[in-house]
Amino acid sequence: MNGYLNKLLYVNLTDLKIESVPLDNQITRKFVGGAGLACRLMYDMVERSTDPLGPENPLFFMTGPLTGTSVPTTGRTIIAAKSPLTRIWGESACGGTFAAWLRFAGYDGIVVEGQAKNSVYLLISEGKTELKDASFLWGKDTFETQKLLEKELNDEGVRVMCIGPAGENKVKFASIVHPDRGRKAVAGRTGLGAVMGSKKLKAIVIQVGKAEIPVADPEGLKTQAKEMAKTTMENFASQMFQALGTAGYVDMANAMGDLSSKYFTVGDNADAYNLSGATMQEKILIKNTGCYRCPIRCGREVEIKEGKYQMPPSPGPEYESIGALGTNLLIGDLNAVTYLTLLCDKLGMDTISCGVTIGFAIYAFEKSLLSTAETGGLELSWGDAELVEKLLQLIATRQEFGDLLAEGARGLAEKFEISQDEVATVKGLEVPFHDPRAYHGMALTYAFSTRGACHNHADHYLATIGNIGPGVYPLGVESTDRFQSEGKAKSVAVLEDYRALYSSLIMCSFVNPPPEQVINALNCALGTNYDIPAIKRIGERILTMKRLFNLKMGLTAADDRLPKIILEPLEGGQDKHVPDLELMFQEYYAVRNWDRSTGKPSRDKLKELELEEFIPAIWG
Ligand code: SF4
Repeated sequence: MNGYLNKLLYVNLTDLKIESVPLDNQITRKFVGGAGLACRLMYDMVERSTDPLGPENPLFFMTGPLTGTSVPTTGRTIIAAKSPLTRIWGESACGGTFAAWLRFAGYDGIVVEGQAKNSVYLLISEGKTELKDASFLWGKDTFETQKLLEKELNDEGVRVMCIGPAGENKVKFASIVHPDRGRKAVAGRTGLGAVMGSKKLKAIVIQVGKAEIPVADPEGLKTQAKEMAKTTMENFASQMFQALGTAGYVDMANAMGDLSSKYFTVGDNADAYNLSGATMQEKILIKNTGCYRCPIRCGREVEIKEGKYQMPPSPGPEYESIGALGTNLLIGDLNAVTYLTLLCDKLGMDTISCGVTIGFAIYAFEKSLLSTAETGGLELSWGDAELVEKLLQLIATRQEFGDLLAEGARGLAEKFEISQDEVATVKGLEVPFHDPRAYHGMALTYAFSTRGACHNHADHYLATIGNIGPGVYPLGVESTDRFQSEGKAKSVAVLEDYRALYSSLIMCSFVNPPPEQVINALNCALGTNYDIPAIKRIGERILTMKRLFNLKMGLTAADDRLPKIILEPLEGGQDKHVPDLELMFQEYYAVRNWDRSTGKPSRDKLKELELEEFIPAIWG
């Protein structure tokens, strides 16, 4: 089948068995690759009773049909499993080059099952795959792990996906990190590093392979890829991300009230400029870095030459980490935020979940919902970078108060019987730094995201301000007043479906050429004749498949909610606006043709999307 190597590598760590299994063409045609394909396969493998940290929970490392081709940003990996943090669909994307190398090694994906007795790493090298002892890596941070593997294999070109101490200790928001020649790429969200740690799989390592990626029209694809790179760089958002990194959005986000601070309780932050991309450029930037075949190169390499946070050339922080570990905690020192972000990446923890969980703890302490009796004697206060550094170490090693924080914000609230309305999570996943009070479309994005509060599920804030317009308006995404609730549902749903397709191709959502170029590229790869209605339908099918997985895990309509803490009116750029959730939800369920009382897609919708095989399981 064009576009695929037609091989998934199944690795069972319990019996140390590795086998290559051909793709099922029918399933691949319907779900494309990446997250869509992983979700369809996982639906049959995982039950509601499956322990996310048990051997029955498979861990997927997936590529898509465009991965490793000349199409921009096609080195991204989708990692998926049942999330230990949310107990529903867990998905996290990772940039870098790993996925391209996996395809060059001859595979469309890896499915890791079982649990090893002793720590191992998986080596894929020149057509051979083997599990090797990882005891010399256990306990090491992610960057050390990369270096040690390079030395062990005498190869500085290896591509590595690994966990740090947090993953080994099954911190519920542990990340999987791909340190990549001075860059870093992180699959941060939903705690998949803990799943990898539970399997005692320290790393996956790929030495370069020579597999040709079979596409239907190689010349057509190359031409289209060039065109996509060109149109990508005509886009304002791409230019801004290239010039200033994702942190280039900090100033604007602060002005709009999108970057709320002090654990979502304050609408703006006086230190925002100090944490911005412009300040980074002026003070610590060395150069841009980027993922495989990316014309934007939004990554930053920075160096802090002196002072307490002195560091050699290292990856710099991106927007979300600046929000989570900076404005959220009232830390306004860019050097401190850079250091704390790097520490999170080395220990292997999601900066968003980590920062929000710590923010929640400080908020609860301030409100006397927690005391030093619970924090192990620690006085929790805002703006204390030293305290945060200490907490990061305690979380990653699950020591003292860190053991409670390692359960995430929802887990911490449950432990001390604090109302979930005070907890900035949706479906258990900590809220990122795009505030639904600033862009009401994000209320739907967060409430209905298939993995809990996720800004990438539908980046409607960027669509609203027009930054990604040429890439999404032809599909039916609209830019209306950011404080308008009425009429947002359709626009958000269209964007959700398109991003679900992106998660399966796989492409970076910062890259937004006109949709017909994306479709042409896909047609050149697969030899298909897709048009806009066809790809919208595929995207909706993938999104609905993730919803079906979550329903199987026990999700109900009652889980489609936002906590009150992110709905209180705030001064500043939000100008005290709050989304009208009742109206938006009503419209959203109608647009989706989902049943409002159960949250289930209707029978007609499932038939329309060729998902009728799930009707008996969903509707009985
Ligand atoms: S825009 Fe940034 S995150 Fe996206 S592929 Fe390019 S370098 Fe990677």
